[in-house]
Amino acid sequence: MPTPVEHRQVIVIGAGPAGSACAQRLAESGLDVLILERRTIVGNPAQCGECIPHWGEVVGTFKHLDDHSWLKTYFEFPQRLQLHRLDNMRVFLPSGKSYEFELDAFAGHRLQFDGYLADKAVQAGAELRVNTALKRIQHQSKTGRDVLVTSDGRFSCDFLIDASGSLAHVGRLRHGQDPVYRPEDQVPTTYAQVRGKVPETFDVFLGSVAPNGYAWIIPKGPDTANVGLGVRAGMLKGNVKEHLIKFCDDLNLEILSFGGGWIPMGGPVKRMVDGTTLAVGDAAGLVMPSNGGGISQAIISGCFAAEAIVNHLELGSPLSDYEAKVRASLGKALKNSLRTKNMGYAFFRGDFITETILRILGPIGGIKRAMECDRPLWIL
Ligand SMILES: Cc1cc2nc3c(=O)[nH]c(=O)nc-3n(C[C@H](O)[C@H](O)[C@H](O)COP(=O)(O)OP(=O)(O)OC[C@H]3O[C@@H](n4cnc5c(N)ncnc54)[C@H](O)[C@@H]3O)c2cc1C
Repeated sequence: MPTPVEHRQVIVIGAGPAGSACAQRLAESGLDVLILERRTIVGNPAQCGECIPHWGEVVGTFKHLDDHSWLKTYFEFPQRLQLHRLDNMRVFLPSGKSYEFELDAFAGHRLQFDGYLADKAVQAGAELRVNTALKRIQHQSKTGRDVLVTSDGRFSCDFLIDASGSLAHVGRLRHGQDPVYRPEDQVPTTYAQVRGKVPETFDVFLGSVAPNGYAWIIPKGPDTANVGLGVRAGMLKGNVKEHLIKFCDDLNLEILSFGGGWIPMGGPVKRMVDGTTLAVGDAAGLVMPSNGGGISQAIISGCFAAEAIVNHLELGSPLSDYEAKVRASLGKALKNSLRTKNMGYAFFRGDFITETILRILGPIGGIKRAMECDRPLWIL
């Protein structure tokens, strides 16, 4: 005898920043929202470099957000989450020469950050069920509805949010490998929590240390940091973790623990709205392809998806407004960032050529533009 199907107005798959922001915004508008999260503890294990943008960085990068009071308030994170200010970023060339830019961000523990966001969604009225993984989607012809089969019960809903991260579980279950719905160019990343003499700044290292990618040191306090490597799949000889250990050893940093994950670096999926399902955050491929940052886009897209559902119910506007709004706000920066990444893939072949190109681009602002997701300089 199959378990009964529990029907909810909105189901959100995943309690990352995208899912929690979306659920909070929906619950505040009076909708019935259930978040299903496969992990036992939200945010654990953390999969992040843990650089979290302030609102200044967000409005400086994306369009049409200045007057969005809900998002502006959402980005006012409590002091207890902000372990270390990240006012500057330094980009190191293979020779050790560096270029420095301003940044408006902070380092935090992603575990605490994700937990805080999920708590806010619950306080707003959303229900959160952990230990509940979406496993299958079955179409029920009798009701004309899809049934979400999870590790703990069966569900149906009026609206479904795919906030399941880089592997886009809803898109994958419905459409397999179809790139229209699946984020592409999944880049493997490994990081370590370290102790030792760490910089004040967010440091990025380019060249053979991380072929077609970069290594980072993100300080989290006076003697702790998150140190990681993201490398285009298949570009590194040997194991990414071994390279990270060597990188840390060379800097005399003691490794306390490891983490890692996949970052979708192929740009936005071609379709973010599939019937009454809306893909948000990494599941929609909204990570910056040139730097791997995705927290702010996850929150923004989660909020926009919620607003599209509310407007659909109240005003009858189409759900496709969601995708249009995401592209209007985030599209240009994501496109620039993708171009920069593709230029890196095409030209950064070995330390000599990487150094030469960056020595030309650095003094004329090319590296800064790349990191800030402005239009790349087409000097090559
Ligand atoms: C190593 C690494 C370093 C990074 N560093 C940074 C950084 O410093 N700054 C930055 O801005 N971005 C960074 N990113 C990117 C950033 O982590 C993501 O863009 C962001 O977490 C996306 O949020 P999300 O809510 O879309 O997805 P996620 O945070 O991935 O959340 C998805 C949630 O869905 C759950 N889930 C997945 N499948 C199912 C299922 N079948 N059923 C139920 N639940 C499910 C997961 O358990 C998870 O909780 C990094 C990513 C990685 C991997």
